Amino acid sequence: MYEEFASTLAATMWGDYDETPSRTTDTPTITDVDTLVIDGNFPWTIVTIETDAGIRGIGEAYPAPGVHEIITDYLRPVLVGETPLDVERLYHLMRESLSGRGSQQGIGTTAISGVELALWDAAGKALEQPVYQLLGGKMREQVRIYADCHAGDSMVEAADEGQPTDVYRPEAYAEAAREAVDEGYDLIKFDLDVPSGGEIQRKSRHLTEAEIDHKRALVAAVAEAVGDEAEYAFDLHWNFAPESARRLCAAVAEYDPIWIEDPVPPENTEAMAALAERVDVPILTGENRYGRHGFRDLLESGAVDFAAPDVPKTGGIAESKRIAELADTRYCALTPHNIGSPVATMAGVHVGAAVPNFLALEFHAREVPWWDDLIEREKPLIRNGRITVPDDPGLGIELDWDVVEAHRKR
Ligand SMILES: [Mg+2]
Repeated sequence: MYEEFASTLAATMWGDYDETPSRTTDTPTITDVDTLVIDGNFPWTIVTIETDAGIRGIGEAYPAPGVHEIITDYLRPVLVGETPLDVERLYHLMRESLSGRGSQQGIGTTAISGVELALWDAAGKALEQPVYQLLGGKMREQVRIYADCHAGDSMVEAADEGQPTDVYRPEAYAEAAREAVDEGYDLIKFDLDVPSGGEIQRKSRHLTEAEIDHKRALVAAVAEAVGDEAEYAFDLHWNFAPESARRLCAAVAEYDPIWIEDPVPPENTEAMAALAERVDVPILTGENRYGRHGFRDLLESGAVDFAAPDVPKTGGIAESKRIAELADTRYCALTPHNIGSPVATMAGVHVGAAVPNFLALEFHAREVPWWDDLIEREKPLIRNGRITVPDDPGLGIELDWDVVEAHRKR
C-alpha cells in the first residue's frame, strides 16, 4: 500500500513543481537503496545507493532504531527510478513522503539525512566532482578536527543511576588532554557531567558545591596541561538546571573554555537563552536539533554562540549548510557534532569546506584503532588535527568492503 502511495507521490509533486523535469545529460537512475551497520564505538549506519550506471553512493545516518526500516520500506520506493543528481528535489520528496511520521525531526529526519549523504556522494561521482564543488566551492584546503577525549570510564557508565564507585581524577584528565594535544589536536573536548563522588541530586539536576569544586578541578587540570597549545571545551549533556549550570559556568569561566556544551536540557530555548545571558562562557548546542527550523529560535534568541548540528541526523549536507548560513546571520560559527565513521566525518568535512563560518568538526573515535582501515586511502585521514579536503569525486572516500565486512554488525 505504501508503494502505491509512493508511486503517486512523485506525480503529485511534479504537479506542484513541474510536469516533467528536463535533463541536460544522460543521468544515472537509482536502482536500490539499502543500509548496513558497522560495529564501531557506535553502530555506524551506512546507507548505500545503487544506480544503473554502476555508481554507488555511500552515506551514513546517525545511529537510531528503525532507520533501516524507514529507509528500505518507506524511502526506497520513493527513490528507485529517480536520478541521484536531483539531491535537493529528492530531499523534499523524502520529507513529503514521511510527512506526519517524523520528517520534521526525529528518526525520520535521521533516515532522510543518511540517504541525502549518499545522494551527494552518488551525484559527485556521476558528475566527477567533489561534493564541496557542488555546494559552491571550498573556502579552505583543510578542515579543523577536534578530539573528543575520555579519561577513565565511559560517560554512559558514569551516568548510571547508582552511586559512582570511581571518581574522575584531574590527573587523568590532564594526561588525556596532553595525549590528544601531542597527537596534534589544537581543540579538545571532555565530558564534565562525570561522577564527582556522592551525587545525590541527579534527578533534580542540582549540583552541590562539592561537585562544582570537583568539576572546576578537572577543567583546571586540562587548562594547565595544554596551556596555550590548544583550546578546550566541556560537555554537560543536558544534565543540569539553569541555577546549577550558571554556578558551574561561573566557577570555570576563569579557565576560558572555548565553549560549554549542552548545559541545560535541549528543548527549552528560553531557558538556554536566559542562561547564556547570565554566564561568561560561550555556549554550544545543536546535536538534538533538526534542520534550519530547529536552529532558528536558538540563533534568533542569542541562546548559543556555536551551532553544532549533527550532519547525518539534522537533515544532511545541504541542510547543515543552510544552518551555517542561518548561524552566520548572528555571526556564530558552525561546529558540527560527529560520532560517525569516516563517511559521516567526510560529509562534515565537505560542509566545513564549503561554508565560511566553519570552526571545527568533532572526531569521536580515537579509541577505534581500525577507523582509518575502513577507507581505501592514505592513512591516517586526520593529521595534526586536520583533514585535507579531498578533491576526489563525491565524498572523496571509498570504503574498504573487506574491512567493513569484518566489522559488520549482524
Ligand atoms: Mg555533546
